[in-house]
Amino acid sequence: MTTITPKPSDLIPDRGIYERRESVVRSYARAMPRQFGKAEGVWMHDNQGGRYLDFLSGCSTLNYGHNHPILKQALLDYIAGDGIAHGLDLHTEAKEAFLETFEDVILKPRKLDYRAMFTGPTGTNAVEAAIKLARKVTGREMIIAFTNGFHGMTLGALACTGNAAKRGGAGVPLSHVSHEPYDGYYGPEVDTADLLEQRLADPSSGLDAPAAILVETVQGEGGLNAASPEWLRKIAGIAKAHGALLIVDDIQAGCGRTNGFFSFEDMGFTPHIVTLAKSLSGMGLPFALTLFRPELDQWSPGEHNGTFRGNNHAFVTATAALRHFWSDDHFIGDVRRRGALLEQRLTALAEEHGFETRGRGMMRGINVGSGELAGAVTAACFDAGLIIETSGAHDEVIKVLAPLVIDDAVLSHGLDILEAKIGDALDSDFAVAAE
Ligand SMILES: *Cc1c(COP(=O)(O)O)cnc(C)c1O
Repeated sequence: MTTITPKPSDLIPDRGIYERRESVVRSYARAMPRQFGKAEGVWMHDNQGGRYLDFLSGCSTLNYGHNHPILKQALLDYIAGDGIAHGLDLHTEAKEAFLETFEDVILKPRKLDYRAMFTGPTGTNAVEAAIKLARKVTGREMIIAFTNGFHGMTLGALACTGNAAKRGGAGVPLSHVSHEPYDGYYGPEVDTADLLEQRLADPSSGLDAPAAILVETVQGEGGLNAASPEWLRKIAGIAKAHGALLIVDDIQAGCGRTNGFFSFEDMGFTPHIVTLAKSLSGMGLPFALTLFRPELDQWSPGEHNGTFRGNNHAFVTATAALRHFWSDDHFIGDVRRRGALLEQRLTALAEEHGFETRGRGMMRGINVGSGELAGAVTAACFDAGLIIETSGAHDEVIKVLAPLVIDDAVLSHGLDILEAKIGDALDSDFAVAAE
């Protein structure tokens, strides 16, 4: 096995209170053992004078960067005016403004007709609501999810998640989900949509008729595997043919990350149900949404409930974000251009070292072949002032989730650091030992 020389960051002990009182379940804090104080735009600051370029963006929760001035001002004004902070699911001015803006800026221009269900505030709540509704509407139990999929940590969503370490925490059987091979799982020669169709069409395959097919168009935690539009269209067709609902989990890939507000735009299919969270509030405030076609709105009042359904502060910042970034095509045009720049740089880097790139839009990464190498690179990046994380079954994909608002020059600067640290790691004893 390889040994990795400890980086300076490994040697800094946890601050006392965290060691004493915070559960050992903490994770990101171990890779980045600093105390953070402030953040603005694409930068985070620790309390020892360190400045970090954020290529993680709260796992794509901060697509518009930290503390965007327009969103911040909208929230400050709302609080100063004694706006409702918590209102269960009562009608509030903030909720009305959000729904009207979402309708005008997002749904109507895309000719989408969805009802909005405000679930509990995190992504997993939106997924739970989606699969619960699909089971209720279809009267079926089985959900089809995919290898390497990630959908959250509560039991229903966790059952749809592939990762064994996460599943292991459940403590009860995770059932009523079948994990089918995602696009490309058996390599480019095998069309896994055809395999799924074959299994569903065969009355003796043992696969029960599904309530829903739940899919990420780009697998955020599962290694940035991007499904092709053709494969996704086939999956949509399979869902339709077999009476299942198509749920697109757009929690990470949505809100502009993959070149449109929704990750499936312009692909020629419309999901029955869509989940959104992460960057929806625009400022890192918890806020999740489950969207579904009107005919699926078969809940009885209060049948799915929750105290924090509709975070009014998040309504305010989400509305400001929709108005500022999505009222015209400027922002998404910039995002597409930056995504192309990112693709170009990562492709060059991958070709130089014989690695592969992954992903789509501003959700891209580089598969360096081993989790140990990827971890050594991201640790070295952190010491050089770049926050960047790994993804994939073996944490072998270094993922670039820069804020979408990042300047091209700053994006290039961060990629320069990544390039240098990959080069260093490959030159080091580590690489020799890994062979
Ligand atoms: C992060 C994520 C979730 C879970 O969201 P939480 O807010 O962590 O509960 C679900 N699906 C996808 C695709 C995600 O990236």
